[in-house]
Amino acid sequence: MSDTNSIYCPNCSQRTSIERRAGWNGKGYVYEIGECNSCTQCFLVKRDGGRSIVELQPHSLAKPVDEAIPSPIREDLEEAYKCQSIQAWRASVTMARRAIQNICIEKGAPVTRTITPKTGEPKKVKNDLINQINWLYDERIITQDLKDWAHEIRTVGNTGAHPGDAEDTQPVAEQDSVDILNLAEAFCGPLYIAAKVYNDRRLGTP
Ligand SMILES: [Zn+2]
Repeated sequence: MSDTNSIYCPNCSQRTSIERRAGWNGKGYVYEIGECNSCTQCFLVKRDGGRSIVELQPHSLAKPVDEAIPSPIREDLEEAYKCQSIQAWRASVTMARRAIQNICIEKGAPVTRTITPKTGEPKKVKNDLINQINWLYDERIITQDLKDWAHEIRTVGNTGAHPGDAEDTQPVAEQDSVDILNLAEAFCGPLYIAAKVYNDRRLGTP
């Protein structure tokens, strides 16, 4: 059974737990004032009948994702962390997958590709993320390691986004969500965060 006091704290950005300080019942839910065991920030906690946390307020991130990461990608990652803060594991990995696709597009990966049906004219269709990640590797924008990470995020993100096929019924667990978001942020390190440090030095700006 998962620990019902486990949270991703939106204030200190730690995977930690919450301590109940006060609580009451209302309309099928339990409401509590809970305190983060890591940073002592207090939250309003809403739990369902099984004591699982369904909402944590405020859920905005006091420590946002690094600003060197361009905004559409950063917003995807911040939303992924918000999903994680309310234990929405599937939604969190789906947003991480979306961040990877936005990175591919930002780096110039083709958004369409041409297919030739057996009958009829060639036509343009939406490109798949699998092709876009491979394109980044082929163009030497990412290394083999980063390509492997991106495909891992893509695969787990697919599990989060699509109801199971016969072979695709693995639930997305808390650890998957933690790992995939770590990988997604780490993926942005060399592409945006380290790149900004380097470019600032080259341009002589602090
Ligand atoms: Zn905290």
